[in-house]
Amino acid sequence: MSKADAEPLSDFIRDKVAEDVATGKYDGRVVTRFPPEPNGYLHIGHAKAICLDFGIAEETGGVCHLRFDDTNPEKEDVEYVDSIMEDVRWLGFDWGEHLYYASDYFEKMYECAIKLISDGKAYVCELSVDAFKEYRGVPTRPGKLTPGRDRSVEENLDLFGRMRAGEFEDGRYVLRARIDMDSPNLHMRDPALYRIKHAPHHRTGDTWCLYPTYDFAHGLEDSIERVTHSLCTLEFEVHRPLYDWLLEACEVYRPAQTEFARLNLTYTVMSKRKLLELVEGHYVSGWDDPRMPTLCGLRRRGYTADSIRRFCRGVGITKVESLTDISLLEHHIKDELNRTARRVMAVLDPIKLVIENYPEDQVEELEAINNPEDESAGTRAVPFSRELWIERADFREEANRKFHRLTPGREVRLRYAYFVTCTGVVKDDATGEIIEVHCTYDPATRGGDAPDGRRVRGTIHWVCATKGGEADVRLYDRLFSVERPDTVDEGPASATTRDSAGTSGNFKDNLNPDSLTTVRAKVEPAILAMGAGEHCQFERKGYFFSDPKDSREGAPRFNQVVPLRDSWRKRSS
Ligand code: ATP
Ligand code: MG
Repeated sequence: MSKADAEPLSDFIRDKVAEDVATGKYDGRVVTRFPPEPNGYLHIGHAKAICLDFGIAEETGGVCHLRFDDTNPEKEDVEYVDSIMEDVRWLGFDWGEHLYYASDYFEKMYECAIKLISDGKAYVCELSVDAFKEYRGVPTRPGKLTPGRDRSVEENLDLFGRMRAGEFEDGRYVLRARIDMDSPNLHMRDPALYRIKHAPHHRTGDTWCLYPTYDFAHGLEDSIERVTHSLCTLEFEVHRPLYDWLLEACEVYRPAQTEFARLNLTYTVMSKRKLLELVEGHYVSGWDDPRMPTLCGLRRRGYTADSIRRFCRGVGITKVESLTDISLLEHHIKDELNRTARRVMAVLDPIKLVIENYPEDQVEELEAINNPEDESAGTRAVPFSRELWIERADFREEANRKFHRLTPGREVRLRYAYFVTCTGVVKDDATGEIIEVHCTYDPATRGGDAPDGRRVRGTIHWVCATKGGEADVRLYDRLFSVERPDTVDEGPASATTRDSAGTSGNFKDNLNPDSLTTVRAKVEPAILAMGAGEHCQFERKGYFFSDPKDSREGAPRFNQVVPLRDSWRKRSS
């Protein structure tokens, strides 16, 4: 168990599970499941569900199943199946032998449908989706009885068999539960159980042209696996009466569904459909673009599994819908990397600094501390010479007293090196642009301290122009420029519309055009020696991660994980 899981957690779901164990409900068993639909990559919201489902199993000595809810062939793919397994493992969870696919239950589900038809609890309906909506009506008024509702059992069985045999085109018939067209809960107004879809499935191939709906399939999946606690997000609360009705009508084992609030993050969209739109429209470089809230994107950005688990613990489990500030996620990775990341020096926006009184051909090695938070990380040698790179923003030709960095006549410390005093600048004759900053150094201040006790207000970082190198660095801002980019309500409808195309809304209008800036940075030799997938802190700048995909030996490419300070607002204004 990692440190992130040191203290026991408590919330209303864990309390209920503990109570059920204590009272011997389900014979003391605890079986949860994480049931992703393999129609996209997992995102940080899924991490919340994973930490809950697998977390409860771990804490109670129970088991958690990984189940692919693959009942919707058109949008599903093995690429997603593989990525989901990789991401769950990466987060640190293990399903052992409990890997399941809803598609393995298609035959059993079909048998349950036959039972419902035989018991007069389901019927074949010829209404189109739109026509049925008319019959179903609105919650405040009773609906109308559908035309096929009184078809005989024999005729229903015959039609349903022919639906399976492939006699009808898509949409010609659906199988509906016969429940209550007057129920105030629209989900109880004869919901669809099966739809005709002539689409090959990534696991069952052409075996089926008939696929169960989410509502029919999900409870049966839980039941077949003898799940005890079926945990899902709040939008399924209104589906619970149907979940219970179907399992009772099928006369099968009944797990209990409990709902919790989903994770929503500021400046983020969190629906696979929208994330897919960003990928397909090339608004991002892929599902693992480091700006994406996907687990593979966050991983590539440099987030650790531990930081995400800590974040999920911090958010907690409640029944109250809320919007979590993305800076909370950033806090957890910053906190971790502050303890673990080695410090190095890189100049992101370079300007040359020339030390007039430093010997022309000399290069010396100065000792730099790798991590002030961790003595065991030791020190390294950093080359220093007459010409250095410093940040353009660390120099001002004119500055007031509050500016503690380089300006003519002012002395500052070069980190781990010497005190230098600015003497002036060299400008491009034609453009007037400053091309060099000049200074003199005090050889007595080697290491960064003056023997006479004199002090400087500012310390700046630098890179040796002779021995340093260059690396590509990606700087990120928020992917969206507004706190709530989701202009489309993702409320209760989302659960039932998961297999309809839906409208995209205009969340893409809220994309931040400046979310990615790539710079060619000047870097100290230790940075060039870094392999792929390593964390570091560029001193005074932020935490960075050498991209696992794009880094090459001797040529790492860096992703900014988080800036040191909350400079987001400053940069985007
Ligand atoms: P999305 O709405 O992003 O497309 P989904 O709910 O359709 O996701 P599923 O594959 O069905 O995706 O999700 C698997 C599990 O993850 C479900 O139990 C779902 O409730 C849970 N889950 C999905 N999104 C969130 C979220 N934002 N916060 C917490 N749990 C979530
Ligand atoms: Mg959903």
